[in-house]
Amino acid sequence: MEKNIKCPLYKKCGGCQIHNLDYSEQLEFKMKKVVRLLGRFHRVSDIIGMDEPYHYRNKVQAAFGRDRQNRIISGVYQSSTHKIVPVDSCLIEDVKADEIIVTIRKLLKNFKLKTFDDNKMIGFLRHVLVKRGFSSGEIMVVLVTGTEEFKSRRSFVNALLERHPEITTIVQNINNKRTSLVLGEKSIVLYGDGVIKEQLCGYTFTISPKAFYQINPVQTEVLYNKAMEFADIQKDDVVIDAYCGTGTIGIIASKYAGDVYGVELNKDAVKDAKKNAAINGIENIHFINADAGKYMVGLAEQGLPADVVIMDPPRAGSDIKFLHSVVKLSPRKVVYISCNPETLARDLMFLSKNKYKIRKIQPVDMFPHTEHVECVVLLTKI
Ligand code: SAH
Repeated sequence: MEKNIKCPLYKKCGGCQIHNLDYSEQLEFKMKKVVRLLGRFHRVSDIIGMDEPYHYRNKVQAAFGRDRQNRIISGVYQSSTHKIVPVDSCLIEDVKADEIIVTIRKLLKNFKLKTFDDNKMIGFLRHVLVKRGFSSGEIMVVLVTGTEEFKSRRSFVNALLERHPEITTIVQNINNKRTSLVLGEKSIVLYGDGVIKEQLCGYTFTISPKAFYQINPVQTEVLYNKAMEFADIQKDDVVIDAYCGTGTIGIIASKYAGDVYGVELNKDAVKDAKKNAAINGIENIHFINADAGKYMVGLAEQGLPADVVIMDPPRAGSDIKFLHSVVKLSPRKVVYISCNPETLARDLMFLSKNKYKIRKIQPVDMFPHTEHVECVVLLTKI
């Protein structure tokens, strides 16, 4: 193996594209990428890396199937294929989650349960998803099955809990469709309350099987604290948390602000966001289930005020409708959190030509060993 390669599956799996570099070289690589794409807008601050860049993923997913000798295997799909690469332990995944997945594989054999064959569309277990609250210690196991029928369900659940008493909830999710999505529509709670709780920046959040939640909790705090520092919210400010997911950023912002409006397209995420606000006893936050662009256009047309806009769009970035309405609303500050510096560069170009000046660019390493890099950018109105 090459000098830095600690993972025998590095090439086959394809998940950690820059694992062949030392961690300090990885940070340099990411820094260069951000400077290349964003350096023309402003000086880029030094990337914030992790002290311990291993086992940071709080969410682990394994596909189940059989190898050529018909043995049960579990692992990840080889990059851009449908072939399962067997994985028992992974350098970036939570150790406990990996152990639970191996236990489930062994239990399948004991219980004579089948894995799902997605060519023939028959069989039972398709995927296992484990989510772990690093602060709370709570663990959720989701068994994704091709059928609702679950032979010896109760004994299987008991056997799993006996081996891993640290599991706090077990859910069966049924996915009988020909799809690349892991989770299906229907979920049945087999043990516990079907969700886990987690603490972030002093607040409690509920995580359900389907909801988006940042996968690196240590760096998420770093990222959100930077976003709050950049936003520098004043006590009567109206803050918009656009692309708010389950409301994490808006909830953290609420203690500094007058009012916060969170807008999100996914209705389940909005439900979770409302619950999260209630759990934390927050009354000055309001969630809207809508397309962020359309919602902002509405605000701009009504001439409503917004002092600070925090935006955290998916990889595709924002859209022109959204950006036009930001300009029209003309908040004092825009804090842009992005997981894709390419679409970020495109959107910053628009804002920089329309009355906004880029003041700070801070990269944060949320995904060590992978090529991905997150940035938080502060813009102020000229
Ligand atoms: N800010 C959240 C979530 C960021 S992920 C957090 O840090 O946890 C991006 C979110 O944007 C997802 O929840 C996705 O459902 C949402 N989204 C995607 N397109 C959208 C659109 N057009 N309008 C509003 N939300 C959108």
